[in-house]
Amino acid sequence: MILKRLELSGFKSFAQKTELNFKFPVTAIVGPNGSGKSNIAESFRFVLGEQSFKSMRGKRGEDMIFSGSSKARRSNFAEICLVFDNSNRRFSGIDFDDVRIGRVVHRDGENNYYINGSKARLKDVIELLSAVHIGASAHHIISQGETDRILNAKPLERKSMVEEALGLKVYQYKRKESEKKLLKTEDNLKEVKSLRRELAPRIEFLKEQVRKVERARVIEEDLVLKYREFLRREYVYISNMRRRLEAEKEEPEIRLREVDEEIGRLKEEVLRDETADRKNSKIFELEESQRGIEERRGEVLREIGRMEGEIHFHKNRLRYLEESREVEPSVAWSEVSFFMNSMEEDLTRTREESSLEEIRQTLESLRGRIKEFLDSFGGESLDRKNEREKIGADLQRLEAEREEKRQMIEGLKKEAEDFSDKRKALQEEVAKDRSVSRQAERKMFECMNEQQRLRSLLEKVRERISQLERVDAVFKYEIQEAARIVGSFILDYKDYEVKTEDGRTLSEGDITDEPREGQEGRRKEIERLKIRLEELSVGSRKEIMDEYEEVSERDEFLANEVADLERSIESLRQVIAELEETIENRFQEGLSKINTVFQEFFADMFGGGSASLKKVPIKIGRRSLSEEDEIEDEDEEESESVEGLEISVSLPRKNVKGLLMLSGGERALVSVALIFAMSQVNPPPFLILDETDAALDEANSRKYGAMVERLAEHSQLILITHNRETMAIAGMLHGVTMDSGGISKLLSVRLGKEETLQ
Ligand code: ATP
Repeated sequence: MILKRLELSGFKSFAQKTELNFKFPVTAIVGPNGSGKSNIAESFRFVLGEQSFKSMRGKRGEDMIFSGSSKARRSNFAEICLVFDNSNRRFSGIDFDDVRIGRVVHRDGENNYYINGSKARLKDVIELLSAVHIGASAHHIISQGETDRILNAKPLERKSMVEEALGLKVYQYKRKESEKKLLKTEDNLKEVKSLRRELAPRIEFLKEQVRKVERARVIEEDLVLKYREFLRREYVYISNMRRRLEAEKEEPEIRLREVDEEIGRLKEEVLRDETADRKNSKIFELEESQRGIEERRGEVLREIGRMEGEIHFHKNRLRYLEESREVEPSVAWSEVSFFMNSMEEDLTRTREESSLEEIRQTLESLRGRIKEFLDSFGGESLDRKNEREKIGADLQRLEAEREEKRQMIEGLKKEAEDFSDKRKALQEEVAKDRSVSRQAERKMFECMNEQQRLRSLLEKVRERISQLERVDAVFKYEIQEAARIVGSFILDYKDYEVKTEDGRTLSEGDITDEPREGQEGRRKEIERLKIRLEELSVGSRKEIMDEYEEVSERDEFLANEVADLERSIESLRQVIAELEETIENRFQEGLSKINTVFQEFFADMFGGGSASLKKVPIKIGRRSLSEEDEIEDEDEEESESVEGLEISVSLPRKNVKGLLMLSGGERALVSVALIFAMSQVNPPPFLILDETDAALDEANSRKYGAMVERLAEHSQLILITHNRETMAIAGMLHGVTMDSGGISKLLSVRLGKEETLQ
């Protein structure tokens, strides 16, 4: 016997604490209608974890609690405790002689389970009980009117009842749990896959970015090498070239300074030409003065000539007068010829005179002489004497004047010579000045050529220096740019050693002498790398790498999740398949056992005939497997074929095949036979039959009693009954009454001996 005791408190009509002992294999609960007998059967369901309040004639937990009456206050909670015997340790894992399962429900809906006083989950309770084949709504509590239920049930529902009787519910529960788990896992899988899908474009994008970053790194490394060589070369080139150009400039600069000085000096020498010019004008003045003296001398000479003519004339006249003192005055031819000749001479000279004044004087003197000549032919001797004396005096005067003029001539000659000497001296000076100036000019021309040459040379060098400065400015900009692009470490370029292909370190001279095309080529290469780097620019590399790492870790995590979930799904499917197989096998086995016992009981009750449960195909809605969706229309597209169970009976001696054709009592007998058969296949530890005998007549009640006794061989029985035949087989009676306050009371009677327990 498994059941020991039931303790009720505040449950439905059992307001007070009530204890029912089950010390016998068969216990009957008796009492008038409405006294609370069925409430006891329901309290079993309740404490065993029944979730359907409907099956306990209620709507919610509160309906299970004593609701009070005019005489008694309502209870705040209902508490049931069912005590099982565990002296043979049938409940594995519990090392006590008693196993107490408790359930308490409060008005506020709080609901708790207890196993031996400790709070437990419903799951724990169900597991503990199902291990000993006890369940809340199982076949072992057959409520009032439930006997009919198996007959009235639809095939699918009936099958479910059979399954429950066969103890398959625990597998079905497990299967359902697994299916739920499977659905949940599939949902999770979908979710994780969708997360992965969501992540995929980001990963793809980041992968591309990472590839870019890696490519950029390679290019950058190359760029660093190129920059180092380029910058080092440029640095060496600029510093060496600067030195070289400075040196190149030095000598021409010194030379230019010298040439400049030389030119300054030469300029002064060239100026001597101007001195010569001044001297020239002086010479001209001297020449002028000399010419004046010469003219004067000419004049004096002519005067002397004229005087000499006069002197000559006077001398001839005087001689004539001396010779012709006794002679009649006559005119000798020779005198006339002489006179004519001297006239002619004077006239000839006059023709050469230039000045009008001189011509006039000559003409005047000619007129005087002509008068004198003519006068000489008619004079008297005294006259001649006077004439001689006068001529003598004139001659003296003339000769004195002539002498004076001659001396004048001498003086003039001297003067002219002085001027000439001075002029010559000046002319010599001029010639010298001119020569010095010309030489200086020539020299200066050379110097200026030299100056020009040096200037243009220096200009060229300066141009090259300023060109170099421009190169240097660009270089400085390039250094900054390099530091910005590849990092400031590049500033160590000065220490970089440029090597040839065969590993030889290039000298500074070699670097400087390299044609500039070399550096231009390197610069172009650097530009090209910079452009490629720019094309690959992706923002912050660290952020990308970090994000990529983070996102790919997440993706990996999700991929593992997917794999785990897929494995779980696989194993759940396997579990479900195994459970289905177990359910199916056990069902087949159980069904045939039920049919055997059903047939036996049926034949016993009806004295022959046959009865069995038969599988029938059922179309149900695909959406749900609940019986409400059982449909008749086979054409329904959204349907699925499942199996249900039909009761097939054949009464002896009657041609009755369908249940519908049976009488009420016959129906009751069939259902009892079936229910008993079901419970016998896998006999439950206890069985509660709530007025399953209500519809039976006396004869059938006896047959029922005999069946119940057979049931009692395997199960402890609690029979709620009004039937005396049934009561007769019980070892103990619990009489239930209801007092005027609506509270159920218990009176326990051991058969033959009355015992009040409460
Ligand atoms: P019958 O022989 O007619 O089947 P019974 O003895 O099985 O009757 P029950 O159906 O067990 O009687 O008892 C029903 C009684 O319990 C009713 O009188 C009902 O008012 C009472 N009852 C049910 N629920 C509660 C509750 N929550 N509080 C108080 N009384 C309740």
